[in-house]
Amino acid sequence: MILEVSPTSDIYDVLVIGGGPGGYAAALYGASAGLSVAVVEKEKVGGTCLHRGCVPAKEFLETAAAFRAVTGASEFGITVADPRIDFSVSQARKQKVVDQLWKGLSGLMKGRKIEVIEGAAKYIGSGRVEVSDGRVLEGQNVILAAGSVPRSIPGFDIDGKIVMTSDEVLSLDSLPASVAVIGGGAIGCEFASMMADLGAKVTILEALPQILTGVDKDVAEVVLKSFRRRGINVHTGVAVSGHTPHADSIGTTVHFGDQQSVSVEVVIVSVGRRPNSEGLLSAGAEVEVDQRGFVTVDQYMRTTEQGVYAVGDLVATAQLAHIGFAEAIVAIKHILGEQVAPVDYSKVPWCIYCHPEVAFAGLTEEAARTAGIDVIVKKDPFGGNSRARILGETDGLVKVLAERLPDGSAGRILGVHMVGPWVTEQLGQGYLAVNWEATPEEVSQFIQPHPTLSEAFGETVMALTGRGLHVG
Ligand code: FAD
Repeated sequence: MILEVSPTSDIYDVLVIGGGPGGYAAALYGASAGLSVAVVEKEKVGGTCLHRGCVPAKEFLETAAAFRAVTGASEFGITVADPRIDFSVSQARKQKVVDQLWKGLSGLMKGRKIEVIEGAAKYIGSGRVEVSDGRVLEGQNVILAAGSVPRSIPGFDIDGKIVMTSDEVLSLDSLPASVAVIGGGAIGCEFASMMADLGAKVTILEALPQILTGVDKDVAEVVLKSFRRRGINVHTGVAVSGHTPHADSIGTTVHFGDQQSVSVEVVIVSVGRRPNSEGLLSAGAEVEVDQRGFVTVDQYMRTTEQGVYAVGDLVATAQLAHIGFAEAIVAIKHILGEQVAPVDYSKVPWCIYCHPEVAFAGLTEEAARTAGIDVIVKKDPFGGNSRARILGETDGLVKVLAERLPDGSAGRILGVHMVGPWVTEQLGQGYLAVNWEATPEEVSQFIQPHPTLSEAFGETVMALTGRGLHVG
């Protein structure tokens, strides 16, 4: 079939497939630099992040935090009789938050004169994109930002009733009484934490030796202890082998490990996400896709076809919304012919919003030692922090590592790791320190307000200079 470029269509400076964080960031940044931009989106702009990911998941975690505050209010002398949760109200609130943000984003895109075209798109080569309504659009540059979808595992077909992925969980109107979460990564732990706080009996089944793989061991240990104290059953180093749905009651029995099993109402499969590259490219495209389905890119997000870029979850980098933003900016700057620093993936910020929260940037102590880097490590537990005591949230710590200089003093800060109250909002200083390659001597000159949670970071860094106030 010979496809003709629609006579009514323009040639855009940038044509984007997918309106998630990667795609809409490219569009907004490109439009603000004066480029003509169109985005083809098959569902709603905002993508996984806004509709089925970051935002709804965090909204429910806030619901859990509100419930914790109410059930723990008696400690402050506040009596609340028999607190209960109506999850349909929580679901409606979550949807309201999502819809408000979606309207805001749509308005912003319209305001920047970004054309949003509804439909599923396929890249057909030579800068041309075929939309499901038959139109063919053309871009001087094309950015592929089709994102990702949840993975499943053999023996666990997603039916949306007993076996779910994050997509279905975030649409629930009522909470199951018991849940098995397969996969103890960031998303799995967030769901486990939220559901346990709202009263469900939760079991985490993780194949690797620890939950939150990749997170500093001291940090992961704090989360594990808190989970266990709150009644979450955590099994690590276990593989799941299948499940047997109950014949006479709701739910199923999940089989795992060495002949072990757990009976639950719902199974949440949280084993990662696969790139959405299936059906995205036709034979005319010269864009290489690797064996796992990720689009291959270089440090400027260029694919193997000239003028075609790919960003976000579609490429084999950290699957985080803000990484999509950063990659989109790199791609647009490259298109504009500007000087651009590629994303340094070893120093990006990571945040996990389970209770207690986790936030980090840079090397873990284990990774530094494996790489043969001599480091000095200091830790400050939140137990000694005034604000954490006031909040009644003392689980957690701040851990900072710096390279050890030949004279034994601390050089560049290499990693900042936090677990505890609101650490996702406290990482900023640590992220800057790591990326600025600042030394403890430099950072410790800055004053932290008192009493704040962020004093823990200041104290830890000061301790690295060899002279701490409260931390030795
Ligand atoms: P997506 O957001 O997946 O967007 C891709 C868009 O492309 C979609 O709108 C899709 O409809 C559209 N599309 C796909 N194919 C086509 C096509 N052929 N034609 C037209 N349109 C198409 N990240 C964080 O940074 N912080 C978090 O706290 C966080 N929490 C998460 C919680 C959950 C439960 C999940 C599932 C994810 C979470 N993430 C989080 C990850 C984050 O959502 C993703 O990294 C991010 O959405 C990826 O952005 P993207 O633009 O690459 O892809």
